[in-house]
Amino acid sequence: MMEVQPWVFHVQAYPQESFGHFLGRFRRVNYLSIKTLAEHLGIRYEWVAAWEVPSRRRNPTELQLIALSKLVSISPQQLQQMLPPQQLHLATRLCPVCYIEAPVHQAKWQRAGIDVCDRHQLPLLSACSACGTGFRTPALWDNRECEYCGLLFEEMTVG
Ligand SMILES: [Zn+2]
Ligand SMILES: [Zn+2]
Repeated sequence: MMEVQPWVFHVQAYPQESFGHFLGRFRRVNYLSIKTLAEHLGIRYEWVAAWEVPSRRRNPTELQLIALSKLVSISPQQLQQMLPPQQLHLATRLCPVCYIEAPVHQAKWQRAGIDVCDRHQLPLLSACSACGTGFRTPALWDNRECEYCGLLFEEMTVG
């Protein structure tokens, strides 16, 4: 059994959920700023801020993953699997059909060179299908919609 921090609202990770998306959800549910989260973990602000921006390529170290693991009650191994792929596609992407099944950003969508969802055989979207605005970084996906025109992720169309 992992030691559970009494003040923490537990947030379950979805299968395939990306690290940044989970971290954003965890912080919002617990009303934690990046700064406060960093303080709880004993880690510098800049590090934690960078975890939510995959293009900065600053994944947690092994020790940082262990500290985070205790806080969020998810094993370091599972957290490791949620990290961005080594070969990273920089623009945030979405499979709207996956999103209907589970409203999360998936780490595998960011694998460079793979432009099709392996579950649905549909092209991954790099922008809103209505207005063409790019997606925000997944840690900020709390509204579940295009930040410009408001189209819901699950209503976006592909191809
Ligand atoms: Zn899909
Ligand atoms: Zn839009």
